[in-house]
Amino acid sequence: MENIALVTGAARGIGLATTKLFLAEGRRVIMVDNDTEELAHAATDLTGAIPLPCDVSDPDAVAQLAARAKAEIGNVSAVVNNAGLADFGPIETTDFERWRQVMATNLDGVFLISQAFTSSLKATRGAIVNIASISALRASTLRVAYGTSKAGVAHLTQQQAVELGEHGIRVNCVCPGPVRTKLAMAVHTQQIIDAYHDAIPLNRYGQETEIAEAIVWLCSDKASFVTGQRLAVDGGFEATGIGLP
Ligand code: NAD
Repeated sequence: MENIALVTGAARGIGLATTKLFLAEGRRVIMVDNDTEELAHAATDLTGAIPLPCDVSDPDAVAQLAARAKAEIGNVSAVVNNAGLADFGPIETTDFERWRQVMATNLDGVFLISQAFTSSLKATRGAIVNIASISALRASTLRVAYGTSKAGVAHLTQQQAVELGEHGIRVNCVCPGPVRTKLAMAVHTQQIIDAYHDAIPLNRYGQETEIAEAIVWLCSDKASFVTGQRLAVDGGFEATGIGLP
């Protein structure tokens, strides 16, 4: 059976790094992103990459994506729900529209893509990896929408693992620590960067490929008895018990 992976938020950052690792393993990769221009640019020169623009928070667009993927490409054996939006704000100043936007991409998007590709994954006895965050594991004063959406992703992972296990589908969650991507650097002030360096036992930010390696491993047969897990890839941050900066 052909090995096809699907990665959302694949135009840059952790999603692009994951795409490149899958391609290096010989998989074909359906690259999904709502930034059509950046997606086309990212896929140029990547042999085996199939860029398909889609907003993961739009139910109709996701249904069309799944139908097209099945008809034109085939069943997928790995789905990485990585598309995400960052938001920093306390409850009193987070407006409801922004709350809904963050939930729609970070949580609804994982639900919609997972639901749309379940029949495909049943056929391949494939794997799902959902990207949450260390913000799923720790509350903070600044992340009412982002942290809540990511805690939802972590719980949804366990729901999916329990429900889909009988079909041989494994579902796990990666909780990255800070990585210098566009998403993080839009909200991380110098004060936050310094605080993370002090709080993380390895005293640094992670790199996209360090997160991607964990994702690709969880999708591989090497992780064949691992399901329902939340893997923090965070330089040891969670182990410290310290609150988020
Ligand atoms: P990034 O901004 O570099 O990449 C995110 C990608 O998702 C972008 O290409 C963007 O266009 C795409 N995207 C956003 N909304 C979308 C939508 N509705 N439909 C389709 N695509 C959409 O960010 P990143 O840091 O690589 O983030 C990847 C994931 O990792 C996110 O879920 C993020 O929350 C998570 N994460 C990142 C960090 C970090 O420090 N960078 C830490 C913890 C978790």
